Amino acid sequence: MQRYDFIIVGAGVIGLSIARQISNRDSRAKILLLEKEEDIGAHSSGRNSGILHAGFYYSANSLKARLTVQGNQAMRAYCRERNIPVNACGKLVVAMDEKELETLYELERRGQRNGSNVRMMDIEEARTFEPGVFSFGKALYSPDTASLEPIAVLRALKADLVRAGVDLEFGARFLGHAGKVVCTTAGDFEGGKLVNCAGLYADKVSQDYGFGQKYTMIPFKGLYLKYAKNTTDVKINVYPVPNLKNPFLGVHFTKTVDGTIKIGPTAIPAFWRENYSLASRFSMAEFLEIAWQDACLFTANSFGFRDLAFEEMMKYRRDYFIGLAARLVPAIDPSGFGELTRPGIRAQLLNKETRELVQDFVVEADADSVHVLNAVSPAFTCAFPFAEFVCNKYLG
Ligand SMILES: Cc1cc2nc3c(=O)[nH]c(=O)nc-3n(C[C@H](O)[C@H](O)[C@H](O)COP(=O)(O)OP(=O)(O)OC[C@H]3O[C@@H](n4cnc5c(N)ncnc54)[C@H](O)[C@@H]3O)c2cc1C
Repeated sequence: MQRYDFIIVGAGVIGLSIARQISNRDSRAKILLLEKEEDIGAHSSGRNSGILHAGFYYSANSLKARLTVQGNQAMRAYCRERNIPVNACGKLVVAMDEKELETLYELERRGQRNGSNVRMMDIEEARTFEPGVFSFGKALYSPDTASLEPIAVLRALKADLVRAGVDLEFGARFLGHAGKVVCTTAGDFEGGKLVNCAGLYADKVSQDYGFGQKYTMIPFKGLYLKYAKNTTDVKINVYPVPNLKNPFLGVHFTKTVDGTIKIGPTAIPAFWRENYSLASRFSMAEFLEIAWQDACLFTANSFGFRDLAFEEMMKYRRDYFIGLAARLVPAIDPSGFGELTRPGIRAQLLNKETRELVQDFVVEADADSVHVLNAVSPAFTCAFPFAEFVCNKYLG
């Protein structure tokens, strides 16, 4: 049996970044990265909006607030080094009415507290960035929001690890452990320390080690619709004011790195963890577990789940989905939208005790294992400083 100093489960952006951080610190460390798929990018890290967030959504004292500004800068620097294109076009957050304007001011305050470069501006000035935009008097401008192709980053990280001599074992699903021995579908491996970065299955892996008992996964599906008309019809990322009580940012315009315009993502409750389509990886056990949790949340309307579920299910109606986006940029041509693109599923944790969605990243650990739970958005943006944080605090 092969022996390693560190065994990392999950080759998403978090697992890859932690492996790279460990290897940069100690080039002699023997590291194994286990991934159940045949390659990188099959889940969240390869299926997200590709936005480098700027850090103004998050409440003070959260890990998200601490790491996003740093993560944005670190990811841009990495992309410069590796010649990965970044579209540094910035973003506008727009309000539909007076109530949303109040939240916009709250975002500005959060941005200032978190060290994020944001500026409130009149609608006339906002229109110099995006001529077709609507906002209720003012809009919030974030010049540091940018977009990139997430798979390009994953590929570069994978190449770094191969060069550094990290072993990557694809097609190796974590099944369980016995002491220091980790059992997978590709055989057993012995490791000094296990680092769980298993995304949609992070709760299950953590529970195998006695952690994460109060959490369960409530997956939410993000659909995107491509705008097939002129790529110049929207020039900048345009977002609505979010409901700060839940972790989703609302249907927005993303200006991708190649200039494509897309709207989304939705946050539709998914019925099993990898429920990308009706046929994809159905699991009866997951379906029953998630349906039960959803039914309880629906009945009690915990954190407004009932309203959220109704509102999100409406987005299966194309005209409704497009209509939401068109409020932000009324100049857009609603008939110009084309196909749905690759959906993503958020690995969102529910706290079973408080019946609330967990907002911040969560890490639980002891001397033998570290578990990254709830690595939801903006964990792609935060990946590098987050990996540093995990190494300093738990693997040092
Ligand atoms: C729709 C959507 C939009 C988003 N937009 C943004 C954005 O614009 N900007 C941003 O910063 N963030 C965004 N995010 C969040 C971001 O994508 C995630 O936070 C990030 O990718 C999480 O990375 P990860 O490595 O934890 O998870 P993943 O990428 O899911 O990686 C986990 C890996 O673990 C593997 N795995 C799972 N179980 C096992 C097992 N038992 N054995 C072995 N391997 C296993 C999986 O196959 C997977 O490859 C978005 C997410 C979604 C879903």
